[in-house]
Amino acid sequence: MTDLSRFSINQITTPSWNMPQAIDGYARHGVHGIAVWRNFMEEYGVAATRQHLRSADMWVASLCTSEWLNVTSPEEMAGAIDTNRRLLDNAAEIGAPCLMMVVGGVQPNDKDIAGQRARVREALHVLVRHARQVGVKLGLEPLHPMYAGDRSVLNTLKMANDLCDELGEGAAVVPDVYHCWWDPDFEAQLRRAGPDRIATFHYCDWLVPTRNLRDRGMVGDGVVDIPRIRSWLDAIGYDGCFELEIFSELDWWKRDPDETVRIAIERCAPYVQPRKK
Ligand code: ZN
Repeated sequence: MTDLSRFSINQITTPSWNMPQAIDGYARHGVHGIAVWRNFMEEYGVAATRQHLRSADMWVASLCTSEWLNVTSPEEMAGAIDTNRRLLDNAAEIGAPCLMMVVGGVQPNDKDIAGQRARVREALHVLVRHARQVGVKLGLEPLHPMYAGDRSVLNTLKMANDLCDELGEGAAVVPDVYHCWWDPDFEAQLRRAGPDRIATFHYCDWLVPTRNLRDRGMVGDGVVDIPRIRSWLDAIGYDGCFELEIFSELDWWKRDPDETVRIAIERCAPYVQPRKK
């Protein structure tokens, strides 16, 4: 019997569904976990989203994503921090335990990646206080280094763990197989994080060839050793949630979302079961 109690679908996997369609669509297939995207939530309304989630008996894995912190002027940084405070409030309102922090890449006119990482670190120290107040974690998701230019200067699980060490309560890591599978330290850094520091865990697959920056594969279609990675999570005692998150301009985003969800359940089921104790 398939137990989907740990399984959620990240809404970006089915972007042709709006907020209510995604909630009803996942629930219709027996998936009661969802990672909510901010644009869909804002379009539908935060209160309406909360209501609808509750009436469909859904739990929320995360709210995606933060406002980027790749700004150089203090005024712009203050604005980005304010927006992230509001998003933390929104996350609390819809019952999301974490806000996915995508911190932004380098500024093209700046080119100072170390300086950018320092600014991000400072901003996170400010934000973590608000995160604690509202009971939502900053979900630090390292992105594959190919995104360092335009999306995130936080690029390895070690960097995310280092930040969590200094931020303390209110910060967590979000490992994603797409971003971390290549990293020789992946297993060791999962062990270092331990089960309590992992806010949620992202599944998809790495396609060969990868055709563009939004070309992630369905679980099983690429070169990531998902069974092995799941065994590492079991070994550290991780009992938290899993999210399927697929950006796929050329394939999955073009399909009927009902088909995507049906295949997602088939493919993910073996890797989202309760841990054998
Ligand atoms: Zn992810």
